[in-house]
Amino acid sequence: MSISYYTKEGLQKLRAELNQLKDVERPLASKAIAEARDKGDLSENAEYDAAKEAQGLLELKISKMEETLANARLIDESQLDSSKVLVLSKVKIKNTANNMEMEYQLVAESEANLKDGKNLVGRIYQPIAVEIDTNFLSTLPDRELQAALAEVVKYGFIYDREFFDFVVANSTEIQNKDIDVLQKIIIQCCEIKSDIVSEDENENELRMILNFGHTVGHAIESFTDYKNLLHGEAIFYGMKCALYLSNKFGSLSNEEYDISTRLISKFELPKLDINNRKIFINFVKNDKKFREKKIRFILLDEIGKSRISEDITFDQIEESLGVL
Ligand SMILES: [Zn+2]
Repeated sequence: MSISYYTKEGLQKLRAELNQLKDVERPLASKAIAEARDKGDLSENAEYDAAKEAQGLLELKISKMEETLANARLIDESQLDSSKVLVLSKVKIKNTANNMEMEYQLVAESEANLKDGKNLVGRIYQPIAVEIDTNFLSTLPDRELQAALAEVVKYGFIYDREFFDFVVANSTEIQNKDIDVLQKIIIQCCEIKSDIVSEDENENELRMILNFGHTVGHAIESFTDYKNLLHGEAIFYGMKCALYLSNKFGSLSNEEYDISTRLISKFELPKLDINNRKIFINFVKNDKKFREKKIRFILLDEIGKSRISEDITFDQIEESLGVL
């Protein structure tokens, strides 16, 4: 594990958090296990199992924190080039004595202040575990669930052909909320996202592919005043445009374009009327990503393979609105 740098307060907070886990949480976990054990037969004692599992997670957290603390150092602010954005876990620190730039893991309390300014340093934690309770899906209105599937389909498009095929093959089961299928999908989406984000924790290149369908999608949301469409519904429309552009101006084959649009057409979307394309394109232009006048548009080369293109023009985006 690499060395991490903390502000003084950050280091204190980290120690305090670890002590809290060891001195307070750990005895509580043991107590919970003892209490559950007293309630009877261990082979059918769900409370006991849950308490054991909680203890396991706690110990995992403690050992991670101990490791972090063992590799934690106090940051020497005098050697920090704070002209760089520091709200990242990895930054370049310039040694002002010899002007050498080195890359360090920099971790400090969130929104920590340095003498150069406020909130210059932050820390990014990756989760130790993710727990998702699929029971909550039954409380979700059908329309919300369907809209959420836009991001699911997106993961197949941008990163994983096999997953895309799974979604196509199981589209009826998905519409019928088959819990086994939905569980598989959720796990796979978490894995893909974790793949993309961990490969690209600090740079924003790879992560940008997560924006597939969002350039036009966000403009649709602004254009319609965030009223008629749910986010996912706007993204379905945005992906239709992105697929058109990938096919017409990129290298997405006609065959894959057809398979892709056929999948999207299985989802029922509210009517969308872009009555003024010029005004609409202004919403695309106003997107903060384009302040530097360069459009970075996510295209598919094939299903499961995406890339950032800088060749797509606003006119071409306007043309793509024809498929909506
Ligand atoms: Zn989104």
